[in-house]
Amino acid sequence: MLQNAQWIKPAHDLGDIAPVYYKEFALQGEVAKATLTITCLGVYDALINNQKISDYVLAPGWTSYKSRLQYQEYDITSYLNTHNTLQVSVGKGWYRSRMVGWQISTIQEQYRQAPAGLISKLTITYTDGSTEVIHSDKSWFYSEGAVRFSEIYDGETYDASFDPASTIKQPIELFDGPTYTLIPQEGEKIIETQMLTAAKIIHSAKGEVIIDFGQEVTGYVELTVTAKKGQEVRLSHAEVLDKDGNFYTENYRSAKAEYRYICTDGKQSYKPKHTFYGFRYIRVDAYPGGLDKVQLKNFKAIVVHSEIKRTGYISCSNSIVNQLFDNIFWGQRGNFLDVPTDCPQRDERLGWTGDAQVFVKAAALNYDIEKFFEKWLGDLAADQKEDGSVGHVIPNLLGDSASAAWDDAATICPWEIYMAYGNPSILNKQYNSMVKWVDYITNSTTTKYLWTGGTHFGDWLGLDAPSGSYKGSSREDLIATAFYAYSTSLVVKAGKVIGMNTDKYIDLYNGILAKFRETFTDYKTQTECVLAAHFNLAQDCQKVADQLADMVRSCGVHLETGFVGTPYLLHVLSKYGHNDLSYALLLRKEYPSWLYSVGKGATTIWEHWDGIMEDGSFWSKDMNSYNHYAYGAVADWIYTVAAGIRTVDRHPGYEKIIIAPNPDSQLDWLNVSFESRYGFIRSNWKKFDGQWRYEIETPVDATIIINGQTHEVCKGLYTFFA
Ligand code: BGC
Repeated sequence: MLQNAQWIKPAHDLGDIAPVYYKEFALQGEVAKATLTITCLGVYDALINNQKISDYVLAPGWTSYKSRLQYQEYDITSYLNTHNTLQVSVGKGWYRSRMVGWQISTIQEQYRQAPAGLISKLTITYTDGSTEVIHSDKSWFYSEGAVRFSEIYDGETYDASFDPASTIKQPIELFDGPTYTLIPQEGEKIIETQMLTAAKIIHSAKGEVIIDFGQEVTGYVELTVTAKKGQEVRLSHAEVLDKDGNFYTENYRSAKAEYRYICTDGKQSYKPKHTFYGFRYIRVDAYPGGLDKVQLKNFKAIVVHSEIKRTGYISCSNSIVNQLFDNIFWGQRGNFLDVPTDCPQRDERLGWTGDAQVFVKAAALNYDIEKFFEKWLGDLAADQKEDGSVGHVIPNLLGDSASAAWDDAATICPWEIYMAYGNPSILNKQYNSMVKWVDYITNSTTTKYLWTGGTHFGDWLGLDAPSGSYKGSSREDLIATAFYAYSTSLVVKAGKVIGMNTDKYIDLYNGILAKFRETFTDYKTQTECVLAAHFNLAQDCQKVADQLADMVRSCGVHLETGFVGTPYLLHVLSKYGHNDLSYALLLRKEYPSWLYSVGKGATTIWEHWDGIMEDGSFWSKDMNSYNHYAYGAVADWIYTVAAGIRTVDRHPGYEKIIIAPNPDSQLDWLNVSFESRYGFIRSNWKKFDGQWRYEIETPVDATIIINGQTHEVCKGLYTFFA
């Protein structure tokens, strides 16, 4: 697609400054169609005749650059005049920023050495049938841009007073940039989706001027200011205020997340081009004429994420739970920015595989994420090592060894995407990677049919962690073997769908199951019980679920689970007759619980159950994100158990459905709907005259199970009382 185009770069290294590349051209006749194909080493912002050519921001996005670099194609016909200037600013983006803030990533260091390269091809087809092609080549030139600095973690500096004419028409150089790794756009575009006005201005005890947008978002601030040339606006970003109401940034760790804007004369507006921030608050550190001139109307928060369409809606009779649902949706939006990230603010923002697998099922009900995940799984497969290990983060900048429940994203994510959308092509594409992952475990374990050895994250952030550890006290061998079994079962299921011979993996699964039962005869933690029962590994799952229920009760009806156990906890309780306990856990307001953070003012999901402690102090500064979607996985229990909407295994993608609601008197009503590929599904229930009133809508044949009674129905709207 970019044949004959050449990679260009500034002839002189501009350091932190984003170059702006220019190409001037005149049309030779009447244009039928003009298409610009373009990508860069960093992120670009392209204008033609001073107009943005697309609503895509932070293009070309983030992929595993060593194997895949997306290019984009834009129809720019309507932007063309007789004489034209194409102008492209290239910031560091994910390619050349210091992604991974806490260690030197040798993988990323190689990318960082790359120049601010650009490659593009403009194809103009005239109405007379002739074609003209304008490639990036020696005829282009560049200037220093007004973006004087840009980095993903550290923010952006824009100097509106800078005159590019002072450096214009610098010669460019050609260089050997990536060619065989170029691929057409695979994922969703990243776009601006919403603008929030500032909610209030706060003057803190420390004398800071803070603006509260009332909602944690991912994106950037658009500022409007009237100023004199050379005056400066400087903003810092934060998610929370400390207990005294002062601005708190320590949890961003080394990410500076700064926004500096040097003004020109007059009224002006700007929003960063080449970076993003995770924030609810900004602190105004410098402002033309002094901080007392700051006004709310001068700041808007622009929400940025991948263009995913909302498909799920949940509401209920409890307003605190509704805020939790809202937080889950915001958490997904804030972390689905081309890659499913752990968090959008501190010096990580990485595609942690464990977090993605934990949340993928809920994510696929909340939004249509098929294309988004197909692209990321393409990167996962591309980064998978020869031995089959996957990596903790994708794109893999860490290069670490494998961890159970993290690298299992290789099997769990394709399977959940297939179940959600019913398209086997994801399994065709990923099957090899799924098999390689399971083979990796088989080849690297120190005990046949168990997964022993290796370094794991365990039940990450489990509340039963020994003092000073991030890992809950569930046994790592048990967790690892449970996921080994689960991944193997998914290889079998996926293989069957796409017509592969899976005998070897059926035998393997049976071997793991037998060995698990022989080795792990008792379960010592909530998470151990959850995994043994949820993955059907225990000899007697009912007994284990009862034990789990006892454990939950005996510690005062609260959870102690971390990343690994939490997503399945309510599923196990409800499935084995402890539905009331599931509701009690969901509705609990005291620490630890989902609603505790809501009581503390959360507008997204926290990384820690106690990100802000009861006395208002913080959990810790080194690992304390307030926008970490993982525990939002509870939404999947709401859709599939509380409202009871499930696709039928042999008719995935909701071609056929089961709706088996599970109400509980702790909640008066629940309304859940989901826009499947086959149409609108709704499951509502409500207390009514001492019984439950159910209203169920299905776009396809469905099995509705109410209070143990099965009703086979066709498309329609149904009401039941029971
Ligand atoms: C990330 C997590 C991740 C974990 C694994 C953290 O720093 O933020 O969400 O899964 O590391 O250890």
